[in-house]
Amino acid sequence: MYLTQSLHRALQQRADKPMAICGDRMRTTREVADRVARLAGGMRALGVAPDDRVAVLALNSDRYHETFYAAWWIGAAVNPVNIRWSPAEISYALDDAGATVLFVDDAFLAHVPDLRAACPKLRVVVHCGDTVPPPGMVGYEALIADAEPVDDIRRGGDAVAALLYTGGTTGRPKGVMVSHQGLMTAAIGGQMCTGSAVADGVNLVAAPLFHIAAIYGWLGQNLMGGVHVFLPSFSPESVLEAIHKHRVTTLTLVPTMLQMVVDHPTRRDYDLSSVWTAGYGGSVIPEAVLTRALEAFPNGGLVQGYGMTETALISSLGREDHRTGGRLLRSAGRSTAQCEVRVIGADGCDLPPGATGEIVVRGDTIMLGYWNQPDETAATVRDGWMHTGDAGYLDEDGYLYVVDRVKDMIISGGENVYSAEVENVLAGHPAVAACAVIGLPDDKWGERVHAVVVLQTGARATEDEIRNHVRDRIAGYKAPRSVEFVESLPTSGAGKILKRDLREQRTSPTD
Ligand code: ATP
Ligand code: MG
Repeated sequence: MYLTQSLHRALQQRADKPMAICGDRMRTTREVADRVARLAGGMRALGVAPDDRVAVLALNSDRYHETFYAAWWIGAAVNPVNIRWSPAEISYALDDAGATVLFVDDAFLAHVPDLRAACPKLRVVVHCGDTVPPPGMVGYEALIADAEPVDDIRRGGDAVAALLYTGGTTGRPKGVMVSHQGLMTAAIGGQMCTGSAVADGVNLVAAPLFHIAAIYGWLGQNLMGGVHVFLPSFSPESVLEAIHKHRVTTLTLVPTMLQMVVDHPTRRDYDLSSVWTAGYGGSVIPEAVLTRALEAFPNGGLVQGYGMTETALISSLGREDHRTGGRLLRSAGRSTAQCEVRVIGADGCDLPPGATGEIVVRGDTIMLGYWNQPDETAATVRDGWMHTGDAGYLDEDGYLYVVDRVKDMIISGGENVYSAEVENVLAGHPAVAACAVIGLPDDKWGERVHAVVVLQTGARATEDEIRNHVRDRIAGYKAPRSVEFVESLPTSGAGKILKRDLREQRTSPTD
């Protein structure tokens, strides 16, 4: 199984139908396939060999997906880089990946001199932006125009298709080796379990293409047949406009993006009736946001995915589950066909329904391993089971509930407090815009529950009001012993709150 098959098949079945829309550009499947064969020839002329890593540092675009296919066409792996990282983090990842060629667009040109200095293996920089290529860089369109098309070597199976870095939420990002087989299985499984694309659908690529969920969502739509609308950078208005203009059927967002779209003041000015599936996932989402999202897409359903870079999709909460509502809105759904899910205790034994432990998973989408980190791989994947580092429980019907990261769990006075549960309650307070709950060292309790809260603009609340709001709704020992109000919370490149930074800032002796 090789990923370029999704393009060959689309070419056989829908050569002259549109495949990619990006701004004013529209290309048919035949045009995309022709350009990919030439770009692959150009890459080979630049010295890219099978197994080399081709890095991409760019906003979403039609060129991004052409670059993916062209790299696979000649047996190379893609290494899409998180665009929200700092220059130092980008240098670290590129150097760690040992990428030889970098595709960079206009938004990130300024980083290039530093990246060249920090990454000795980087030989060629291809400029895939719309302006004139700067000196010392190869122009993307010239590369395609000057190259001879080459045949697809159809490399697949266990070969590395992508080197993807984790979100860096709990520590330094790790390179994850994802195989052709794994990614194709994720794409098929994603379609089957979430029904996230429709045949001849219009898929809005709004989530960044360096993220695994965006990649298998894009691949899945190619398997279904349909067209992509590439959205270079996210804003709630641009998503609403694109849905309205292109009659989008399918989109995938991270929870914060979904929240911004459904809460946008002009949302009702747009026609969102074409949306069949609004997929979301990547972090916990407050129930209140889901309730509003259900109303925003009148003909569409919400589909949640739970997964990680190392595993692709683990479980999915389908559209019917969302309609059922109730406690299911707190669930991450049921395991996908390609992923076995268990919840284990500290002794490694399975826990009964309702009991919280670590989520471990096994299946064909699990990573080949961490790049250059055999010890980390051995510690994480044991006897074929990937230890997710997430705490959760299963119910009697096989619905999985992700309650927290194991590292974010707070043990206060011998009781386990799941920070995500407390955050969900806090998020229901009308004055709270965002919050994070962390454990801080405490002489008496071991750890104490501490809430860091951002208030809605113009809203007011006291520490006691916040604490009582929680105490009225869940067990008293889970209520924050201390509440702190801040202007904003630190977030990772993927928009997740960096609790390790919050903890360090509040415990480091220099503060
Ligand atoms: P790092 O591994 O570097 O700390 P990360 O875990 O944030 O970063 P990703 O692989 O992008 O990097 O994210 C996977 C994690 O995101 C999961 O382990 C889980 O904690 C969280 N997550 C993903 N989907 C969901 C979901 N639907 N509900 C709750 N949490 C989710
Ligand atoms: Mg992780």
